[in-house]
Amino acid sequence: MKLEHIGIAVENLEEAELLFEKLLGVASYKRENVESEGVTTSFFDCGNVKIELLAAANENSPIAKFVSKKGPGLHHLAFESKDIKSDLKDRKEKGFTLIHEEAKDGADNKKISFLHPKSTMGVLTEFCQDKFK
Ligand code: ZN
Repeated sequence: MKLEHIGIAVENLEEAELLFEKLLGVASYKRENVESEGVTTSFFDCGNVKIELLAAANENSPIAKFVSKKGPGLHHLAFESKDIKSDLKDRKEKGFTLIHEEAKDGADNKKISFLHPKSTMGVLTEFCQDKFK
């Protein structure tokens, strides 16, 4: 599976965008709210992989909880799936815990689903599939 993007939880999206622009030498190419998750995302294209900054859009957001517990930092790895439905079914059968039983709408025109970090050695793992492919 191809690593599609790396999710990084941040406290302040403006500050984080400036920092990552300096660090990566490219500017964020889009910002997007994902209301169902209570996050605002900002994407950087690093050529072979994207960086997704995630900031809490409200205090009930999972990102708000993450940042208050662990501070800003690495949040998840997202792998590109060609058939997310069958990948989720397959991983469930192999004993992984799904956070979402069904893929749902995520940022960047993708269907997404997360595997629980308790079943992936602490690494929150996302599968994502382009909606238009
Ligand atoms: Zn993601």
